[in-house]
Amino acid sequence: MSDTVLVVEDETTLLETLAYNLARQGYEVLTAENGNQALQVAREAQPDLIILDVMLPGIDGFEVCRILRKEMSVPILMLTARDEEVERVVGLEVGADDYMTKPFSMRELIARVKALLRRVRLIREELAAQGELTTAGSIVTRTVDTDETMKFGNLEVDLARREVRLDGEPLRLKPKEFELLVFLTRNRGIALSRDLILDRVWSWEHDGSSRTVDVHIRWLREKIEQEPSQARRIITVRGIGYRFDG
Ligand code: CA
Repeated sequence: MSDTVLVVEDETTLLETLAYNLARQGYEVLTAENGNQALQVAREAQPDLIILDVMLPGIDGFEVCRILRKEMSVPILMLTARDEEVERVVGLEVGADDYMTKPFSMRELIARVKALLRRVRLIREELAAQGELTTAGSIVTRTVDTDETMKFGNLEVDLARREVRLDGEPLRLKPKEFELLVFLTRNRGIALSRDLILDRVWSWEHDGSSRTVDVHIRWLREKIEQEPSQARRIITVRGIGYRFDG
């Protein structure tokens, strides 16, 4: 069965071009030209992916994304017109899974759509194997709350401030260490394969290998484990990868 993609864009020419190119790739395409319509179609059709423009008449793309995040786990790729929008789009406030800045190449957009759907399939399989279901928030980042601070004993992961504290003291984490830790903590108790971690945390960079994951896990353990050689927070799951236990 082909995946359904909802495209939300008020510029008719671009909307038609997107719809045409996605349909040619074999996707079932739905369209909406404003925020209200987008919400309605998304709720009714439960698409597999949404391409969402930021600037829309009525409810804008930021707001549509925020609302949908609370209702469904669909991956959302946002289209931005200005660089200033990017930070909000990928930030925790809005929480899109990916974005493209206009003008973009259709080929690149199709590649992103495919990659995003592939990531979602990987995550779904992994969650199904663990007997977990995601009903709200991004299935990719699994965010629901935007300013949550997650606490695990003396360890705090503050998403709003992008800060990790141990015994109340901020730790110096590299950006990828932070992202890795957030991904692990959001999937607490779930064994995550190296491939999935790589796919999620290193996503589009494609310069990582399983070794990259291992190295970053080692660095993280040195910072957050009391005894890095006998890790109690980030557990090695033989033959699979890692699991965050708290
Ligand atoms: Ca627009």
